[in-house]
Amino acid sequence: MQKTKKLTQEDKERIAGLYKYGLSIKKIAQACDLSKGTVIRAIKSTVGLRTAEERFWLKVEKWSDGCENFIGATDKDGYGRASYRGKPIPAHRLAWQLRHGEIPEGMCVLHTCNRPNCVADEHLYLGTRADNQKYMVEQGRSSSGRKRRRLTPEAVVAIRKLKSEGVSRGTLAACYEVSRKTIDDLLAGRTWRNIEA
Ligand SMILES: [Zn+2]
Repeated sequence: MQKTKKLTQEDKERIAGLYKYGLSIKKIAQACDLSKGTVIRAIKSTVGLRTAEERFWLKVEKWSDGCENFIGATDKDGYGRASYRGKPIPAHRLAWQLRHGEIPEGMCVLHTCNRPNCVADEHLYLGTRADNQKYMVEQGRSSSGRKRRRLTPEAVVAIRKLKSEGVSRGTLAACYEVSRKTIDDLLAGRTWRNIEA
């Protein structure tokens, strides 16, 4: 049952703390048994609501393999699906834009790491559509769907390390563009036995 009780300053600060910690308004409302409107008012009167930019970066996770992964939804090709000021935009393009300003007309934001949902600044560069096509052909990708990738020994070591750091199997499968079974097998040591973590 949601209550519309009056909050004390202490309640408001507690809510602000949860919000700053990264919890969504919905989660806070559920946890505190309050309406979303009450939670929003408490946040507005204390720390203020997050900007669209802050909300975006909250969905980015830095991994020890050097990539910064957008952990929100992805499209069929593995690109992060973000939105900004009410418009949908691929996460890597938004990340580039937030750091460097508008993307020049007709240019693509390309990856050096071949991980579509990565938004690490060092892994992104501007290129033409022709560069993008050439790159995708080289990597065995096409714009009409993604191909399963083969893992490298370096990737296997990184995956085992990331798992020990708490990254889920599903996320690893999505980020390395392999099946869940491939991840299960290498973590269980059924494959890649010769590679030590
Ligand atoms: Zn990357």
